Amino acid sequence: MLKDKVILVTGGSRGIGRATALLLAENGAKVIVNYNKSEKDAEEVVTLINEKEGEAIKIKADVSNENEVKEMFSQIRNRFGKIDILINNAGIVQNNLLLMTKTEEFDRIVDTNCKGVFLCMRFAAKMMMKKRSGKIINISSIVGRYGNSGQVVYSGSKAFIIGLTKSAAKELGMYGITVNAVAPGLIETDMIKGLKEEIIQNLLNNIHLGRMGTPEDVAKVILSLCSDLGDYVSGQVIGVDGCQIM
Ligand code: NAP
Repeated sequence: MLKDKVILVTGGSRGIGRATALLLAENGAKVIVNYNKSEKDAEEVVTLINEKEGEAIKIKADVSNENEVKEMFSQIRNRFGKIDILINNAGIVQNNLLLMTKTEEFDRIVDTNCKGVFLCMRFAAKMMMKKRSGKIINISSIVGRYGNSGQVVYSGSKAFIIGLTKSAAKELGMYGITVNAVAPGLIETDMIKGLKEEIIQNLLNNIHLGRMGTPEDVAKVILSLCSDLGDYVSGQVIGVDGCQIM
């Protein structure tokens, strides 16, 4: 499905990024597993892929740091000579009420979730425009579409991704590049580990499929957008939330 496609998965060390890296590699892609802190986890993903005769490398880069992102893309250029698909998945969460949110907390979320996505898109788009093809998939969230009390800055950062996606899809369409957002609901990863049991139960009561999503549920939708099944889809926000009401 993705034979010889070179795909960068930011935050590929854990959770949704890890499941995505594994599934894309299983389908023939050459995968770059980006990580920031979890080197051992990233190494494990790379080993799992390479053991199954796939091709993967890991690159450490904090996506909010322009120099590190620049260096990551120059490593990709040197090793593979191109990038076909970017999965902008790296992100951090914030659970706090508006009045309790410190400015430093705002900066931290916005740096990773907004600036990080922007920087990776800009470097990837430059390489993709030259070959007049490419796909960019940005991971937003259900809360970026509908908002969520107690997640003001996080929701805002995920809404930013939607605006960025729709605008970039319009700018880059003429170069044969598609840009879409995937908006997961409640997905069982480290990110939701801090949530209280009663909050989880309350969320589950509003999910019509009656269960949390798995990282693999999201990865499968990303795979379809990456494959030629998604060639004529651009500027869209695809919900993967089990029909959750917010
Ligand atoms: P996760 O399990 O906490 O994994 C987050 C990943 O992002 C890790 O691989 C982490 O790598 C990476 N990361 C964080 N900051 C980074 C940075 N500055 N530079 C590079 N990588 C960085 O989270 P997840 O649930 O898989 O979330 C993945 C994406 O889905 C996020 O954008 C999140 O907002 C979104 N999402 C998640 C849910 C959910 O319910 N889980 C719902 C909607 C949307 P290191 O550990 O190496 O730093």
